[in-house]
Amino acid sequence: VDLISALKLILPEERLLTGADLAGNYYHIWRMNEPLIAKALVLPKTTEEVSAIMKVCHERQQAVIVFGGRTNLVSSTKPRGDEVLISLEKMNAISEVDLASRTVTVGAGVILENILEAVKEKELLFPLNFGARGSAQIGGIIATNAGGLRVIRYGMTRNLILGLEVVLADGTIISSLKKIIKDNSAYDLKQLFIGSEGTLGIITKAVLRLYEANRSRNSCLVALNEYTKVVKFLKHMDKGLAGTMTGFELMWPSFYAAATTPPAEPKPPLPHGHNYYVLVESLGNDQTNDQTVMLELLETALHEKLITDGVLAQSESDLQWFWKIREDVHSCVSRSTHDQHFDISLPIASIGGELAKIRENLLELEDVNEVYVFGHVADGNIHLIIDKASEELSLKNAINDIVYHPLTALGGSVSAEHGIGLDKKAYLPLCRTAAEIALMKQIKIQLDPYNLLNPGKVLDLP
Ligand SMILES: Cc1cc2nc3c(=O)[nH]c(=O)nc-3n(C[C@H](O)[C@H](O)[C@H](O)COP(=O)(O)OP(=O)(O)OC[C@H]3O[C@@H](n4cnc5c(N)ncnc54)[C@H](O)[C@@H]3O)c2cc1C
Repeated sequence: VDLISALKLILPEERLLTGADLAGNYYHIWRMNEPLIAKALVLPKTTEEVSAIMKVCHERQQAVIVFGGRTNLVSSTKPRGDEVLISLEKMNAISEVDLASRTVTVGAGVILENILEAVKEKELLFPLNFGARGSAQIGGIIATNAGGLRVIRYGMTRNLILGLEVVLADGTIISSLKKIIKDNSAYDLKQLFIGSEGTLGIITKAVLRLYEANRSRNSCLVALNEYTKVVKFLKHMDKGLAGTMTGFELMWPSFYAAATTPPAEPKPPLPHGHNYYVLVESLGNDQTNDQTVMLELLETALHEKLITDGVLAQSESDLQWFWKIREDVHSCVSRSTHDQHFDISLPIASIGGELAKIRENLLELEDVNEVYVFGHVADGNIHLIIDKASEELSLKNAINDIVYHPLTALGGSVSAEHGIGLDKKAYLPLCRTAAEIALMKQIKIQLDPYNLLNPGKVLDLP
């Protein structure tokens, strides 16, 4: 039986789209106007259907790409045109919130925002939070090991996964939907699939770890004039907030100015012209007391000349105002003729000096107009958005070289949280050794000998 006829035996017509029916579908939320070319787009509803689809594809050595919310920033859902696309959007059940274990069991297609809302109703917190929460699905989030704004306290996605169900390339179902925190019964297999960008298996369900919901949220925005003081201020706040600090976001002046100057909506809570701006967040239990603690920490920091200015959010609307500034990266993108994005990691102590050098070197390129720098500095993770004059490949490569090459000597990473996909594949050897990459390829070949799962992404196989 041919591929499509075999798929028709598994799925009803409305969940198997081919040819003209693919129109209106897309491989990325920012590329909705580009035509989607593929052998088929399938919409399974159960793990058994995913398994049956993979058995059909395995028998025919048919390549597949898994679609989550399609918000990735590394072209990891971009098709070549000859794949079967498997969208898990219909596997969107939140099957159980367990109050005692503090877990939620979800299908891979559940959108992050829906998880946040569902557990909030039970006075619990799923601490993952980032700008794409309204579109990104938990399967895609796990497959990219997303980070976001609260990693300093709760870790990356990896730290929040207790159980996982996965379908392998040959259709085998590997299910371990346990709710336990501790499990040293041999290898922790789920870790292989977390962050594998759809190249090792298809995540169909997960058990997520929850925390007690916070009853207070406080934030302050401060200005500083030296990077060494940013590092000292981080220690000062983390110590003083005694385990309640959830965010510590650094913005360089070009980013802060773009995010607080029309057409960007927010007004600047602190004046322009400082060298660094830091936005701090703490989640606690007692609004009045926690706010006083944060205020006292700001006063000490001012007194000790760690910071030059500071402002404390006094209301929910202040919180939204301050965080809109940091989260609205669109203000930089919309100012750019063409934009190129980076998501790098480097040791915290090196960030100030290295980013100054990188920025200077980038601005020496004739076709670079502006460099916006910001990021999760407490995690050593910095984002750059480059405003450039053209999409020329030589310019793109020159920019990549300037940003990526210093990272090897510093022990950094070309991808802190967005993954490798297609866009960073050529730069993987800058931060992983030849022996590490060889081992990754062995694992890939073992799990997916025909290279059917997202071929050409992350690693090049012979
Ligand atoms: C505005 C904006 C802000 C962002 N902020 C952050 C941030 O702060 N931190 C961060 O880490 N990322 C961030 N991202 C990137 C992106 O949102 C994350 O990478 C997210 O985790 C991707 O989830 P998704 O469902 O959209 O996955 P997709 O983009 O659909 O897929 C990503 C990869 O995972 C694979 N995949 C998808 N679903 C599955 C599955 N069920 N099983 C196996 N493989 C699968 C795909 O094949 C692909 O390789 C941001 C993106 C945007 C647009």
